[in-house]
Order: sequence, then C-alpha cells, then structure tokens
Amino acid sequence: MTVHFPFEHTYAALPANFFARVAPTPVASPRLIKLNRPLAVHLGLDPDRLSTPEGAEILAGKRLPDGADPIAMAYAGHQFGHFVPQLGDGRAILLGEVIDADGVRRDIQLKGSGPTPFSRRGDGRAALGPVLREYIVSEAMAALGIPTTRSLAAVTTGESVVRETLLPGAVLTRVASSHIRVGTFQFFAARGDTEGVRRLADHVIVRHYPLAAGTDRPYHALLDGVIARQAELVARWLLVGFIHGVMNTDNTAISGETIDYGPCAFMDAYNPATVFSSIDEQGRYAYANQPRIALWNLTRLAECLLPLFSDQQDEAISEAQSALAGFAEKFDTAYQAGLRKKLGLFTAEDGDRALAQDLLEAMAKNQADFTLTFRRLSDAALDTADDRSIRPLFADPAAYDEWAVRFRERIGRETQDTAMRQAAMRSVNPAFIPRNHRVEAVIEAAVNRDDFAPFEELLAVLSKPFEDQPAFAGYADPPEPHQRVLRTFCGT
Ligand code: AMP
Ligand code: MG
Repeated sequence: MTVHFPFEHTYAALPANFFARVAPTPVASPRLIKLNRPLAVHLGLDPDRLSTPEGAEILAGKRLPDGADPIAMAYAGHQFGHFVPQLGDGRAILLGEVIDADGVRRDIQLKGSGPTPFSRRGDGRAALGPVLREYIVSEAMAALGIPTTRSLAAVTTGESVVRETLLPGAVLTRVASSHIRVGTFQFFAARGDTEGVRRLADHVIVRHYPLAAGTDRPYHALLDGVIARQAELVARWLLVGFIHGVMNTDNTAISGETIDYGPCAFMDAYNPATVFSSIDEQGRYAYANQPRIALWNLTRLAECLLPLFSDQQDEAISEAQSALAGFAEKFDTAYQAGLRKKLGLFTAEDGDRALAQDLLEAMAKNQADFTLTFRRLSDAALDTADDRSIRPLFADPAAYDEWAVRFRERIGRETQDTAMRQAAMRSVNPAFIPRNHRVEAVIEAAVNRDDFAPFEELLAVLSKPFEDQPAFAGYADPPEPHQRVLRTFCGT
C-alpha cells in the first residue's frame, strides 16, 4: 500500500544545466502537522495514504516516492535591485509534476528538505514558523481567488534548525503551476546562453502561454502574456491589502502566481507606504510601490528575451519597450475595475476613479481599517443605518460622512437593485484576511507550546473569507494597539 504519485517530469527533461539532480536529506522523525485533503484529491493523490507514517516520511523528504526525479532548479535574480548570477533552489527540491483535475500541470516541491548544490551558506532547512506562515497565507490567498502557489502539507522533522535560536524544523510541500521565475530566465541570459533562454521560453509557452505558440511572434506574445498576468496579479494584491515583502526577480513567477511567502503581510489600517519586512529598510517593496516594482521586474525579463526578438538590438529594444509600455494601462484597468466592484458599481462613470481615490485618502488620513471599511460598506450600501459601524473606523468620523454623501449619490444612479449590490460587494470585500497578529499568535502557540489548534482554527476561518461566520467574528477585528505587528521576518 504505497503512496502513489502519478509523476511526470517535463522540467527534468530540459538540458542538464537547468537544474541539479539531488535527493532530499532524510530527517529524524517526521510528523504530519497538516495535510490539505481537498488539494490532495484535486491533484489525484490519496489523502488517506498521505496521512500514513509512510506519507509523512515522503512529505518530510525522508523517503522518495516511486517515480520521483528530484531536482533543484537553477535560477538567478535581482535581490533588492542587486543582481546575483546564481541563486537556485537552496532549500527546495522538486519531486515531479502531476496533472490536476482541471488538466493543469502542477509542480510538487518540498521546501526545507535539505541542502542542494545551490545552498551557498544556507542549511537547506526551514523553521516551523515560516512554514506555517506560508501555509496560512498561501491558502488564504487561494480562498480569496488570487493566483498563488498552494500548500499541500506541513510536517515537522523532529530536528532543530539553527537560526537566532534553535527552532523546530519543518518541511512545506508546495504546489505551483511551475516554479519558473523571472530569475530563471536571468540565469541563462547572464551567461550569454541564448539557446538556454530559448529552450526555457519554449517550455514556458507550452506550459503557461499555449496561445502564444499560434501567433506570428511567440516570444513577443509570451512577454505580453507575462506582463498581463503580473499587472492583474499586483492589482489583485492591492485590492485586498496584500504586501508581498520580497518582490525580487527570483520571487516573481512567470505563471502569474503569487510565490515565496516570506515576510508578506496584509495591512490593517490603510496606508500606501506600509512596509512590514524587517529587511526592507528603504521601503522598496512597500504596498503602493508594488506595481512599479512589478514593472521593474518585467523589464528585467524583457531584457532576457531581447535576443529572441530580433538580431537587430535596436529593433528588439523598441519592441520590448512597447510591450512594457502596456503594463501601466493593464494594471490601471484591473485596479480601477476592482475598486468599482469593491464600491458595488456595476456601471462606469468618469467620477468613479476620484470617488474611490477620495475614500482611500480619507482612510489613510484617518487610519481606517482597509478590510473592515469595505466589508461594512457592503452592508451600508443597502442600509444607511450601517454607517454607524463604519464611522468609528475613522479617526474623524466626519471624513466618512462627507464621502458617504457622494457615495450615496453615485449608487443612486445605478439601476441594479440594492440587495444585489450588497451581495456583489460582499463577494469581493472579504470579512477575513490573515491578520498579522493572528498569524503570529498561531505560530507562537505551535512553536512554543506544540499547540496546533489555533492554526487549524485560523485556517478554517480563512477558507471562507467572504462568509460572516458569527462564531469567529473576532477574527475579523483589527489588532488592538498592543497586538499590532510592525515587523515581519523572512525566517530563512
Ligand atoms: P528566499 O528569500 O526564500 O526567496 O530565498 C532566496 C535564495 O536563498 C534562494 O536561492 C533560496 O534557495 C536561498 N535560501 C534561503 N534560505 C535558505 C536556506 N536556509 N538554505 C539554503 N538556501 C536558502
Ligand atoms: Mg525565493
């Protein structure tokens, strides 16, 4: 009765310099902390077998499942603007790919499963805290409908990892439509290996942008496609108050999924300058900077593709520039459409941009909670009596009152009935996000007290972010001043 993974290996079939073959390092005593059963089923895996001791050994990297061809992928990347020609999976190992119930190819990767030829000075391990954080936030993002890598399982290893203190070691099983990053292209481009760039681009087109294959200029279409998905992705982040925290080019997935949950966080009070990451001293990856950084990262991708565009460098550059010029409009269209939905507007008017912007500015000036303001507005759009739940979110409630007059005038010109508006708004304005203080409390209980009940409860609440869940209403609350988390850490 072994655990069966119907593995395929299209990435491992690429040239040998794309990766290093390396097996996970066995660990002392694997213990399954969490298995994502619905995801397992979706991937064609048997959750009951994965829950056995043998399954836990596989998920900890102690035992290799039949058919695995474990590799660490090579990549490079700009980290905080500085280019590093070789990064690569220093603590992650791809076991193989499976085809999910939707027919989509998915990587199954162990993160924290031991050193690889790309580990540099790292130990190849992950601590339990960051593993739980990634599990919670990636699954919350999925429930919010935002493209993201997924978490299939978390196991503890029975070993300690050395960070500032000794911490329990853990392994996350990460699922992605691929782990190919902007930095993967940079790895080959930096070596002048145009054939490598071409092989990678061809692989990516088949895997993520099949429509590009049928166009006159597939590599141009590939760049356009990645630009469109990143523009859409970053708009989605802003619309839920998400801050990635480390938008390095090696943490930017070509598929358009959110990847690499390190010091990421959701903001509570709306403030465009919000930064949580302890290592982001300049605020390079602040909330409102994210669109600009996405474009910067896409520009690095475009540079890699230049030799595929044309032998004439000038021509290639001007083609890349015109593709990149499309980013701003794509982002703005997605972001403004998202804001209109958050405000319950079914039609578009010229003044909508200003209406949304003025609410955001009033929220920023008055430290209003981003998530709660929009959630409660969903009800206030139906019944003005609900204004009383919004006003106290603003330091000066009059700031909301003034804006609300304009909002009511605007929705008065909509033809949709108000109950439909409320339902539509409630379907895009979540009640529950993974608030930092909640995530930290869950990690504290798990790491210091071996208590995973808070983790389970938080996961359950976040799996239905758009439902009210009265029994768990407290999870919607912003932190009290003493609960506020000001800094988050990579934890690597
Ligand atoms: P990250 O900050 O997780 O995006 O990682 C950046 C780079 O550092 C990647 O090449 C990782 O594989 C590598 N890295 C991070 N943590 C470790 C670790 N504990 N051991 C080895 N490599 C690591
Ligand atoms: Mg990374």
